[in-house]
Amino acid sequence: MSINKRCFRDPTVYADWECMSCGKGFSDMYAQRLKETRDVMGRMLVVCTECGELCRPIDADHQVEKPMKEWLIEAFTLPFASDNLPLLIAGGLVYAFLMASASNILIAIMLLGWIGYFGAYMMDIIAHTAQGGDELPDWPELSTVIDSLLKPILLLLAALLISFAAPTWLFTTTLGPAGVYLAMLFGALYFPMTLIAISIYRSFLAINPATVIISILKIPGTYLLASLFFFVLLFVESLGRGILFGESNAIFQFMGSLIGFYFLLVEMRILGMIYRTNKYTLNWLGEAD
Ligand SMILES: [Zn+2]
Repeated sequence: MSINKRCFRDPTVYADWECMSCGKGFSDMYAQRLKETRDVMGRMLVVCTECGELCRPIDADHQVEKPMKEWLIEAFTLPFASDNLPLLIAGGLVYAFLMASASNILIAIMLLGWIGYFGAYMMDIIAHTAQGGDELPDWPELSTVIDSLLKPILLLLAALLISFAAPTWLFTTTLGPAGVYLAMLFGALYFPMTLIAISIYRSFLAINPATVIISILKIPGTYLLASLFFFVLLFVESLGRGILFGESNAIFQFMGSLIGFYFLLVEMRILGMIYRTNKYTLNWLGEAD
């Protein structure tokens, strides 16, 4: 059994299964399960997508996940790894461009496509991290405008709508103006898990309250701690970016964007790790079946 075998379909992540005939590896995402046939443990059998033979689970080192403190530190240092520096700078430039144009509504609308692309990349980082990726993924390929640009925007909008807009309406109409605080609290709890769900599933079905609430209740401690951390970072980032970006000097503005983009990367890694460290409990992709 080989340790650190990569997935044959997506070599950027580790394999969770290994074909007993041809030896190809498959991550849980690409594991082909036989729904009708189960092994003695009651788990679904996994077969090789290439040769059709049975696969066995890999109990490699990568499945023993690091403690939370270690992966938090890693989330902060990863963007500075030498391979990721060009990406960090390119991302900082794109982010600066988005920030500068956000003040002009007309340009902002024209740049909606950029926002979609940027959002798609953020979702890629979450999904990639969740599935065991230890490096930052490449920028997404532009396959079709609808899938690459429009769908990410709509997914993010739907996630914001159900996390913040809908509860604000519900709580303020029933409780009066003070209901807005309850709505914000609800959104702060609901949004991170929703963001993880849309990133992994890339589907509007992922936003349904049953998936999100049940998942939160399965890992309440880790989730609360990690989401709190997520919002603290978001606050620190907007504060720092606000100060630097308020300067008229272009270099300060670029520095602000670079810091903003860096924090975004860290935040996405943290969201991905919430799923990754609890994948057998959450079991969205059938990891525990
Ligand atoms: Zn095979």
